[in-house]
Order: sequence, then C-alpha cells, then structure tokens
Amino acid sequence: MTKPTVLVVGPLPQNIMDALSEAYELVRYWTLQDREKELASVADRVRGIATTGHYGASRALMDLLPNLEIVASFGVGYDAVDVVAAREKGVRVTNTPDVLTDEVGNLAVLLVLAVSREMLAADRYVRSGDWKAKGDMALTRSIRGKKAGVIGLGRIGKDIADKLAVFGMELQWHGPRDKPGADYPYRADLTAMAADVDYLIVACPGGAATRHIVNDAVLNALGPDGTLINISRGSCVDEAALVEALQAGRIGWAGLDVFEDEPAVPQPLIESSRTVLLPHVGSATVETRTAMGNLVVENLALHFAGEPLATPVV
Ligand code: NAP
Repeated sequence: MTKPTVLVVGPLPQNIMDALSEAYELVRYWTLQDREKELASVADRVRGIATTGHYGASRALMDLLPNLEIVASFGVGYDAVDVVAAREKGVRVTNTPDVLTDEVGNLAVLLVLAVSREMLAADRYVRSGDWKAKGDMALTRSIRGKKAGVIGLGRIGKDIADKLAVFGMELQWHGPRDKPGADYPYRADLTAMAADVDYLIVACPGGAATRHIVNDAVLNALGPDGTLINISRGSCVDEAALVEALQAGRIGWAGLDVFEDEPAVPQPLIESSRTVLLPHVGSATVETRTAMGNLVVENLALHFAGEPLATPVV
C-alpha cells in the first residue's frame, strides 16, 4: 500500500521525524531549494501537513494542496494555522493540548520566582566576584502574600494559578467570560485587575482577539512595583509599549518567554537589569516535546485510519 504523503513545514524532534517517515512519504518543506517548483511537483499527493505553533499553515500554503485533508500542529497554540481557511476547505486541524500544561505552568512559576528573587543577577553576583568584593547582595522580594492576576484561566492559566497559590500568592483572573465554579475571583476589567495585582501573568491564546491585550494602559495600571510575566504569545503584549514602560520605570519588571518577532528581541529588553528573558522554551523538555510529537503522530494515524481524532481543533 502506498504511504500517504505528508508535508512537514519545519523541523520536528528527530524521534518524531523518524516515526513520521516510517508511516508517510515526507516532503520536508524547509529543505526545498525552490519551494514553489518542488512543491508543485508533489502537491497533488499531499494529504497531510505536520507543522508547529511557530510555522503554522497559511491559507496560501493550503491553497497549493488540492487534496489536503488534515493539518496536525505540534503545540497547543494554533494561532498560526488559518483555521478559517481549513474549515472552508473541509480540512481537519489538530493541536497538542494537556501534555504540555504542567511544563509550561512550571516555567511560568520559574519566571515569577526568577524575577522576584533576581536569580540571574544573583548568579552573576557570584560568578563576577562581586560577592567576594562587595559582600552580600541587596535583598530581593518575596512572593508570599502578593497578588497575581492571570489573563486566561484555561489549562495552563489554571495550572499556574494553582501552583502560585501553593507559594502563598493571592490569585484572580481575567478572561472573555466568567467560569462558574472557578477557584479564583473573576475580573471582567483587565485594566482594573492590573491595577490591583503585583504580578500580571499572560496565559491566553495568541491571534487577532488578544493582540496587544496588554497595552500601555494595562502596563500603567500594573505600575512601578508591578511585574509582567508572558508565557503565551508575544503578540498579546504591545512590546514597544513594554519597552517604554520599563525604561520609564512605569512598570517594575518583566519575565518573558515569548516575543512579538521571535527570535528577534528588542535591545532595550536585553540590556535591562529588570528583565528575565527566555527563548520560547515553555514546553521545551525532552519528555514534553516527545509527548507532543507522539500526539501529532497519533492524530495523523487516527485520521488516515478513518478513526476519530485524539485532539481536534477543527
Ligand atoms: P486553553 O486551555 O484554550 O486556555 C486559554 C484560555 O484563554 C481560556 O481560558 C480562554 O477563555 C482564555 N481566553 C481566550 N480569549 C481570551 C481573551 N481575549 N482574553 C483573555 N483570555 C482569553 O489553552 P492553554 O492550553 O491553556 O494554552 C494557552 C496558550 O499558551 C496557548 O494558546 C499558547 O499560545 C500558549 N503556550 C505557550 C507555550 C510556550 O512555550 N511559552 C507553550 C504552550 C502554550 P475561555 O475558556 O473562556 O474561552
């Protein structure tokens, strides 16, 4: 039996590439020299796309693949997949929820603690010899008893809230609608929540609906003693406004795993002593990336076997 052809948009972990190449004829899109020409020669055969939250799948790409049936995305956020185009074309879309929740939640907690305890500055204090030369480092800030506001109390947002509650933080959250039975108070007004909290933590999806949801007004409300943590998408924060707010001392600190134009990071964020910056590694452990990849493989296998999908979006 001929293997179905699957277009892989960008590289996936090697063990996942191996599993995919056992089951499918793979077109490694990122390796094509002349993409348009080389894709045209196989386009009719492509029945599936394997992609990532970063590479996504545009309408333009789907337009080139007349027999496309499914887009299986590696990652929970699918804002880079054109789901409207997929729906119109009857193309199924899957993502990888749940298997990464705990890992991303841990990273958010790590950022909160790294910022509040100035962990990277403390590390530099030892390495630079300052400890010996200057004596004890200045005191840092406790999170116990402080207030945190989570934007988006979904799988990851709830995980972050539950974990920070264990550290003695007082939680509240904002989202498009209240959730009956939520464990923490709901704030319909994001700016009002920002004004009330010490830590504002972004955990909602990216995309048009949340673009720059953290804007100048929200940052001003968070204030000079406030900390912004973003583990969701760079697009959720007005990065230019964040840079200005940090430079002017209108907000205190920022811990960021995601940026508007990755991997480009604005120089003032790099130079600031009040930021902790990570290269979009929320889910980036061997264990979690393997579980995510296995879910991509499983969704494709279920689809081509005519079975219900494990984690459908469309
Ligand atoms: P989820 O379970 O779908 O949760 C998203 C939450 O955001 C939902 O509670 C949703 O509210 C809320 N929301 C939707 N629109 C909103 C808006 N306009 N304002 C405020 N809240 C809004 O998704 P998840 O699994 O927690 O993942 C969340 C996001 O984290 C992903 O979409 C992805 O972008 C990001 N992520 C980042 C990394 C990383 O490496 N840094 C890794 C994984 C995921 P309703 O429930 O009311 O719809």
